[in-house]
Amino acid sequence: MNCKICQRKAVTEKFCRIHLKAYKNIVEKYDCWRKALKISWREYLSEIEQNPLTGEWIKEVASYLITNEETRNGKKS
Ligand SMILES: [Zn+2]
Repeated sequence: MNCKICQRKAVTEKFCRIHLKAYKNIVEKYDCWRKALKISWREYLSEIEQNPLTGEWIKEVASYLITNEETRNGKKS
C-alpha cells in the first residue's frame, strides 16, 4: 500500500509517515479554528491550501482531502 499523495510506502491505509503527521496536524488545528471561527471542515481546508505560510506537506494533504471530498470522519460527503 502506497501513500495516496506521494506514492511512498504508507503507514496507514492512506498516508505515508510524513503525510500522516501533516494530516494529524490539520485535524488538531481544526479544533481550535472551529471554536474560534465556526468554520466548516471544507472551508478550513481551503484556508490551509491558500495560506502562503502553510508547509508543503500540509498543503498536499489539504488539497488531497478537498479533492476526495472527505469529511473529518474519513467518509465520503
Ligand atoms: Zn506521502
